[in-house]
Amino acid sequence: MMKLCLVGVGAIAAVQHRPAISDDPRFTLAATVSRNNSLPSVENFKSIDETLEAMPEVKGAVLCVPPSVRHAYARKALDAGLHVFLEKPPGLTVGEVDDLKERAIRKGVTLFASWHSRYAPAVDTLRQHLAKSPAHRVVVSWREDVRVFHPGQQWIWEPGGFGVFDPGINAFSILTHILPPPLRALRSDLFVPENRAQPIRAELALQDGSDTPVECVFDFDQPDPPTWDIIAETDAGTFRLAKGGAQLFRGDETLIDEPEREYPRLYERFAELCERGESDVDTAPLRLAADCFLAARTAKVAAFNEDVPAVGSSR
Ligand code: NAP
Repeated sequence: MMKLCLVGVGAIAAVQHRPAISDDPRFTLAATVSRNNSLPSVENFKSIDETLEAMPEVKGAVLCVPPSVRHAYARKALDAGLHVFLEKPPGLTVGEVDDLKERAIRKGVTLFASWHSRYAPAVDTLRQHLAKSPAHRVVVSWREDVRVFHPGQQWIWEPGGFGVFDPGINAFSILTHILPPPLRALRSDLFVPENRAQPIRAELALQDGSDTPVECVFDFDQPDPPTWDIIAETDAGTFRLAKGGAQLFRGDETLIDEPEREYPRLYERFAELCERGESDVDTAPLRLAADCFLAARTAKVAAFNEDVPAVGSSR
């Protein structure tokens, strides 16, 4: 059984990682690393160094800090010889992730750059359908209310916070898994509130490796409930992946409708990689997000205020 430390104790650490680790007999949560938070009955340290001094038996680190600070923690953990599980996105830049990849090789440890949406129940089935009947048009609608899903998270609006690409990169992780590579950004319109550094909305025109058009809208200002849909038009009908990959429809027919268990599946994958002495680091979704920022035409829009509900919201 591998003892893990959870680095960064925020929403995702508490809601998904802690229960998934508890339910997996191959792992134990031995410690957390957090400046301000802790989890009940788990010892907390202020740094990875302090953790390893007190608990040298810790062999893995799971990084749930925001992407802008992830590289420094990951580098420290890898250089100390720990296996490392990265929340998405795996870093602030592709260069940072390449650096981590090299460090993991030098140390002979596992680096897992997780993309949780790829582990949603219906994603692989859609991938199989598209392998037989390629899409001739793809439409992505990834919209949610940032006030509901990221309350109080100032980092998401700051440089390196990704803004609406924080959820949008989940759609990219699915697209880069189900469509022929490489995906390219043809046009990128980003809408940035005048009081923030990151986009609240993105309208994107992409193409996959077969030149299939992929139109995306990411929106952080949609009143609940969220829309996390990918529609693929094919000769075998129109597929709709919904609820972030929990459901799949072909026309009116329901092909899959299952509760998600993305995080238990991520820990299964991490265990398998550690056992085999392998790493899994795909930077394609991060590179596509970076390309959208490089190609961006940016427009300033009205200031965002978290205390003002989205238009049409019942809050
Ligand atoms: P969060 O609730 O804001 O928690 C982030 C934690 O990181 C904080 O509790 C903070 O703990 C720590 N941290 C360390 N350095 C920090 C810094 N400079 N600025 C801000 N926090 C810092 O964020 P989250 O929602 O858990 O997201 C963390 C990562 O998981 C992100 O990459 C996100 O994309 C990913 N993720 C989130 C969700 C979700 O639904 N929330 C889903 C999937 C993936 P201390 O202050 O105590 O150190």
